[in-house]
Amino acid sequence: MTRSDETPGGSGAPDDLDRLLAGIEAKASPLRAVVEEVHRRHVGCTDGRVADYIPELAAADPAHFGLAITAVDGQSFTAGNTDIAFTIQSVTKPFTYGLALEDNGLEVVLDRVGVEPSGDAFNAIELDPRTNRPFNPMVNAGAIATTDLVKGPDLVARTKRVNAMLARYAGRTLNIDQSVMLSEQATSHRNRAMALLMQSAGAVSDRVEESLDLYTGQCSMLVDARDLSVMAATLANGGVNPLTGEQALDPRYVKHVLGVMYTCGMYDHAGAWSVRVGLPAKSGVAGGLLAVVPGRLGIGAYSPALDEAGNSVRGALAIEELSERLGLHLLEPHPSDMVTELRRPRRISEPGRNTTSD
Ligand code: GLN
Repeated sequence: MTRSDETPGGSGAPDDLDRLLAGIEAKASPLRAVVEEVHRRHVGCTDGRVADYIPELAAADPAHFGLAITAVDGQSFTAGNTDIAFTIQSVTKPFTYGLALEDNGLEVVLDRVGVEPSGDAFNAIELDPRTNRPFNPMVNAGAIATTDLVKGPDLVARTKRVNAMLARYAGRTLNIDQSVMLSEQATSHRNRAMALLMQSAGAVSDRVEESLDLYTGQCSMLVDARDLSVMAATLANGGVNPLTGEQALDPRYVKHVLGVMYTCGMYDHAGAWSVRVGLPAKSGVAGGLLAVVPGRLGIGAYSPALDEAGNSVRGALAIEELSERLGLHLLEPHPSDMVTELRRPRRISEPGRNTTSD
């Protein structure tokens, strides 16, 4: 956890230019102060409920709340419980979608999984009636289908590939929480029902039972809020991890991953989220949430109490406030002085882009 010496007021009013300029002159980071202030403003919120349909998740402490920003130049700003480990759950879905795209190409993947918001709960047992495919890769059915497209000879090899892929985004080795994995495996009857429905519709392969285990295993990989900010920053940085310089995703597919996050990442709240917050995002039922500001930064949050759509209550409130205060909404370009200095990517992954730094 980082702390500033100065405690800015928590009025919620937009930051004024004088304050920003004062911070820049003093060589302090105004962004650090904002992350701490936004964390402080929402830390007392007790709305929402910890998920318990996976029994092991019910043990999470609803008091935990971490907020982190990692910029594409590699700087991180954190507040609260950013080093508490939790299972990634559905936050893995966009990353697995990226791996499925790399393994199979766009046409094959789009043939199996749509890119339309479903407007229904993440665990709805349904296929798009027009196509007999899952609506999108962010709901469980779609994620099981994209997981089914991950190549490899057997469950162990495929799990290692997914683990290595997530580690490239996080910039560190990630472990599996065995007890959460076993707890979900013993209770994932809905997901099994969806997998079998898709098998009968020809939307997945005949090894979908193995893919279901792979899906549950990847949902049980352990991350913290800072990891999520680095993973989001990697997507913001054209697929290149800003800390390690490693290419985590073929740059051709970054916009496809961000596109489904923008339209479907917050489940049946995705429409309100894209209007109010204006950022591609993905939530998980353990309480993780990340958002991407393309070309600029990634935001990671952890708070296990969820709203009725299954999104972290405090995580969503904090990211919404960051978007407002820093002018991050993608459809409302008013670059704030505070983040202008963070707009330059450190590493360049595409030819022809500006490589100078000043
Ligand atoms: N593993 C969870 C499930 O399949 C993931 C759901 C989520 O995070 N929304 O139910």
